[in-house]
Amino acid sequence: MKRIVIKIGSNVLTRSDGSINLTRISSIVDQVAAVKKAGYQVILVSSGAVACGRGFLGKKNNLDTVQQRQLFSAVGQVRLISLYSKFFHEYGIPIGQILTMKESFSTRRDYLNQRSCMEVMLNNNVVPIVNENDTISVTELMFTDNDELSGLVASMMDADTLLILSNVDGIYNGSPKDLKSGIIRKVMPDDDISPFISAEKSGFGRGGMLTKSAIARKIADEGIRVIIANGCKANIIEDIIDNIDNVVCTEFVPRTEGISSVKKWIAHSTDFTKGSVRIDDNAEKVLLGKSAASLLLVGVTEIQGYFEEGDVIGIFNSRGRKIALGRSSYSASEAQKMIGSHDRRPLVHYDYLYLV
Ligand code: GLU
Repeated sequence: MKRIVIKIGSNVLTRSDGSINLTRISSIVDQVAAVKKAGYQVILVSSGAVACGRGFLGKKNNLDTVQQRQLFSAVGQVRLISLYSKFFHEYGIPIGQILTMKESFSTRRDYLNQRSCMEVMLNNNVVPIVNENDTISVTELMFTDNDELSGLVASMMDADTLLILSNVDGIYNGSPKDLKSGIIRKVMPDDDISPFISAEKSGFGRGGMLTKSAIARKIADEGIRVIIANGCKANIIEDIIDNIDNVVCTEFVPRTEGISSVKKWIAHSTDFTKGSVRIDDNAEKVLLGKSAASLLLVGVTEIQGYFEEGDVIGIFNSRGRKIALGRSSYSASEAQKMIGSHDRRPLVHYDYLYLV
């Protein structure tokens, strides 16, 4: 069965005055119901809690930004999820709410726990609706935005497709204000579109095209198709499923090789590394070479931090650039004792190595 993760941005769910757009939510639910009927498993990552709360309570100038976020999301999430619940109920489709935080992806155990939770929901025909737990996730360790969260969910759940819906048609090949600019329809794995990405953000969400395209590239490199499209257009989800060639949107064509499930977890563990190693030029050449290679202790020149066996570590080249992440087979102190040796099992086995 095909699996699709659909990320819905705050700007899709709200009107320009900040009030919640009921017609839009209802239309998205209609489309998700149709896509499910066509045989897809669907996971929604929905923003809009903060916008919904702000629309309901009105702006609070006496509160700082963290307090506003906590207050609005606490109130808005309830309203948002009850609207989804009401509209899905008309189709007899049960929904389940998952509020998560970046930290909940930090250990393999927590990660697998969340995965089984969504898996059991899907197997029981429930649509998981995911959002960041904005009420308590206010530290520096929060998601950049829900685009990042949706990428993690798509990767964790081995989705075939990640569909990111915002209020623009996709990535423009020039300034969106310039009439001569058009939407880039397909981005191949080795295309560099960075000159076209604008850092501007619009409206109520936290994300912009910069994070969208970076997430899209990363997820497509993991073997998942990513589509950035305009969620304000009628029937957009169904039209894309039907025939994407007839829809103006940006599609990131996935790398065909894809990567294993454990490598996907490692790929998204940058913020949770417990330590790092520096390697010599020879080891770097071998790791970046065409054939699969593990990181041997003989190529390691320096070890930093206090990691245990099984922790994810950063792997840096001699010039201090991060080239990979990997799951260490040794603790930092064990590795320190054996630095430079030839005849030991690898520090990071190829199966647990992710090249950045
Ligand atoms: N989690 C936030 C919300 O539901 C949105 C974050 C974002 O805009 O990406 O309001």
